[in-house]
Amino acid sequence: MDWRQVLDQRNLQIDVFADETWIGKQEFLGIGCLYVPSAEKEKCTRTLFDSRCLKNDHSQWVSSFSECPVGKSCSAERHAQDDAVIHFNEILANKSRAKVQIAKRWLNYFKSSRSPLFFKLILLDLQKLSRDKFGDEQVWGNIYNRFFRSNLIFSLKSFFHANQRPVDIQRVYQHRNTMLESHNYFPLQNLHKLEDQGIRGLVVRDYLVRFISDNHRAISSVEEKGDSQLFQLTDLLIGTSCQVIFNTSQDTAKLHIAQEIRPLVVNQSKFRKFHASLFPKNSICLSQNIIGTIEEEIHHNNQFTTQFAIRMPEYKSNFLDLTRLGTKDK
Ligand SMILES: [Zn+2]
Repeated sequence: MDWRQVLDQRNLQIDVFADETWIGKQEFLGIGCLYVPSAEKEKCTRTLFDSRCLKNDHSQWVSSFSECPVGKSCSAERHAQDDAVIHFNEILANKSRAKVQIAKRWLNYFKSSRSPLFFKLILLDLQKLSRDKFGDEQVWGNIYNRFFRSNLIFSLKSFFHANQRPVDIQRVYQHRNTMLESHNYFPLQNLHKLEDQGIRGLVVRDYLVRFISDNHRAISSVEEKGDSQLFQLTDLLIGTSCQVIFNTSQDTAKLHIAQEIRPLVVNQSKFRKFHASLFPKNSICLSQNIIGTIEEEIHHNNQFTTQFAIRMPEYKSNFLDLTRLGTKDK
C-alpha cells in the first residue's frame, strides 16, 4: 500500500512511534513522531530488516549469521555490521560504512511513494519559551508532554484529516526514557488528554503508551524487535532533519546521509508525508497567566512556523566515496 492509498482507507488505524532529541546545550528540544498504518506495520518492519543485507536482494533477513540466507558470500563480520543498531549520532565516516548504506536505503524507502509512513518533527526553541512556567517539578517532562500532543494533533488533522473522517490511534510507542517513564502523564493520561482536544473523527483504541528499546539486539520478543526498527528509523529522521536545519556535525558520513532528507526539509509543501516546524516564532512574553497564554498561542497555531534557516549547505553525494568509509562498526 502506498501512502496515498493509506489516506483512502475507510477505517484508518495508526500506530505512533515517538522519540526526542536535544540540540546544542539544551537550546532546542526536538520531538519526532513516525506514523505507521497498523495494518502495514509488519510489512514496513520486514522492509527495514531486509534492507540491512547489502549483499543481495532477498526477503529473509535474520539477525543470526548461521541462518544468513546469502550463505557463503556473507561473513560473520559482514553480517554483524549489517545487523548494527542505527543511531544517527553514532554514524561516523571512519567506521560506519554499513550503517551509511543502510541509513540511505531506509531514507529512500521512507521518501518513496511505496512507503505508507508519515513523519512530523516539532522543534522547540527553549530560549524563547519560559520553561519555568511549565511547573516546578518534572519541567522537561511537562514540556515534552505538551508538545508531544501537539505533534499528534497536527498530524491527525493535517496528514490524516481526522476532523473530516474517522481515524483510530491503535497504539503509541515511546522510546525508552526514564524521565518520561516516571512522568505522571505516562503511561495512561496523555492519550486521555489527547481525546479532550475535540478532534471529531479521533478514537483512541489503547491508552497505554508502551516504552520500548530501540536496540533490537538486546530484545528477545519478535514483535518488539520489529518495533525497534521503526524506532531506529524515527531516530534517523530526527537526526538527519536536525543535521539539515542546524548543521550539527561536519562528519562526512552524516552530511552524506542528511542530504537524502534535505529536499524534504527545504521544500516541505511538495512532500505531504513529512513536516517539520519550529515553536515559538517569537518569544512567548511573560504574563500573569503564562500557561493560559501558551495554551492560547498553541491553540491558534500562530506561533508554529516552517520558516526557519537551513544551516547545512547542499552536500553533493559524489563528494563521498563510500568504499573509503571505515568498517569498524559491529
Ligand atoms: Zn549475511
